[in-house]
Amino acid sequence: MNDLNMAMWERATTVIPGGVNSPVRSFAAVGGVPYFVQRAKGAYVYDLNGRGYIDYVQSYGASILGHSDSRVTRAISQAAEKGTTFGAPTEGEVLLAEEVVRRVRGVDMVRLVSSGTEATMTALRLARGVTGRNKVVKFDGCYHGHSDQLLTASGSGVAALGLAGSAGVSQGAVADTLVVPYNEIPVLDDETACVIVEPVAANMGLVSPKDGFLEGLRRECDRVGALLIFDEVITGFRVARGGITDIIDVTPDLFCFGKVIGGGLPIGALAGRRDLMEGLAPLGSIYQAGTLSGNPVATAAGLVVLESLDESSYSMLDGRSKFLAEGLEKVLTDAGFSVQIQRFGPLLSLFFSDDIVTNYVQAKESVAGGAYPYFFHAMLQRGVALAPGPYEVMFPSLAHSWDDIELTVDLASAAAAQAWSAWRSKLAPTSGS
Ligand SMILES: *Cc1c(COP(=O)(O)O)cnc(C)c1O
Repeated sequence: MNDLNMAMWERATTVIPGGVNSPVRSFAAVGGVPYFVQRAKGAYVYDLNGRGYIDYVQSYGASILGHSDSRVTRAISQAAEKGTTFGAPTEGEVLLAEEVVRRVRGVDMVRLVSSGTEATMTALRLARGVTGRNKVVKFDGCYHGHSDQLLTASGSGVAALGLAGSAGVSQGAVADTLVVPYNEIPVLDDETACVIVEPVAANMGLVSPKDGFLEGLRRECDRVGALLIFDEVITGFRVARGGITDIIDVTPDLFCFGKVIGGGLPIGALAGRRDLMEGLAPLGSIYQAGTLSGNPVATAAGLVVLESLDESSYSMLDGRSKFLAEGLEKVLTDAGFSVQIQRFGPLLSLFFSDDIVTNYVQAKESVAGGAYPYFFHAMLQRGVALAPGPYEVMFPSLAHSWDDIELTVDLASAAAAQAWSAWRSKLAPTSGS
C-alpha cells in the first residue's frame, strides 16, 4: 500500500470511526488499508496515486451503468442548476414513481425515501400498521439495512427468537423479529405482520431461492393473512427490467428499492399495492417523512438510469456475468481451490466450498475456511477491486467491456495461483510441497 492512501488513512482514522462511513468499506475482513477513491470512470476506480482498478464493487450495486456515466452526470448537473432541494413536490418525483409503476408488476404506488434502510424500516411499520400485528419474520443472512428491528442474527441456524445483532439494539426492539433459515418455508401464525426477504439473497454471498421457496412464502403469508415484503434493494432493476417479479411468478405485497434506483445518489423507495400504500401519512395513520425524500437531483439521476435500462442491457449484463463466472471457476479450480461460483443473472459471488451454498450456515462455513482474503489481495495487487469482504457479491456493470472481463479472468489466473500457495502455507506451514 502506497503513501497517499496510507497518509489519508491515518487522517481518516483520526476523525472518522474506523476511517469509514460504512463498515463494509473497511478492510477489517481482509486485512490491510483501503484504497481511497479519487475518481472513477466506467468500470474503473482510481486511487489517490492515480492507480486504476477494474471495479466490481460499483458502490455495492448502486452503480449499474458504470461510474460517472455521462448521461447521469449531465442529468445531475442540469437538475442541480435548478435547485437541489425545496421542501415542496417536484415533477421528477412523479416521473420516477411513474417509471417504477410501469416497470414493476404489483406496484401501484411509490413512496420515495433516501436509503434502502429507510425503505425497509417504513415497510415494516406499514405492515404492522395495516395488519395490527407485531411479529416480523426475516431470514438468517439476509440484510435489510441497519434499523434496530432488522439487525438481528440467529444462533446456529436454528429458528430462534431474534437476538440483537449489534450492541445498542435493545432486546425489546428485536423481540418481535423471528429469524429463520433462508430457503426454508417457516410456519407462520396469526400474530405475524409480515415476512421480509431478499428474493435472491445477495448479502451472504449470492444465494438463489430454491424452486418453490418464494411461492411457498406467498402461500404461507396468505394462509395467515401476513404481508410478504420483497427487499429488492439489490435485485430491483438489476436482475431484470422490472426486478425479480419479471422472472419469478410471485407478487409480494410490498417492495423495497434502493441502490440502482438512485443512479448513484441517495434514494430508496417503498412501493406496492394501492390499498396498503394508502395507509401512509398524510392519507393514512402510518407516519413516515423525510426532508430530502424525493430529492430532485437524486430523482433525476435515478430516472435517467432506469430509462437507459432496456431488455438488451439485461442480456448484456447476463452474458458478461456468465463469462466471468465460468472464467473464475476455471482458474480457481485449476489453482487447486474447491469453489462454487454462484450466480443469478448479473449477480455472482464466490464461495470457497465443496458444495453449493443455500443458506447462511453454509455461507459462514465457507468463509471460515479463510481463503477469500488471499484471493482478494492477490486480485487487488493486480488491479482488480473485489469487495473487501467474503459475503459481498460482484457487480459487473454495463461499462465492463468484454476486454475488461477477459482481463479480469487472466489476472485472476495468476491471482488464484498466488492465493492458493499463500493459503496452503498458512493452513499447513510444515506440509511443504
Ligand atoms: C444495501 C441494502 C439495504 C440497505 O440499503 P442502504 O441504502 O444501505 O440503507 C437493504 N437491503 C438490501 C437487500 C441491501 O442490499
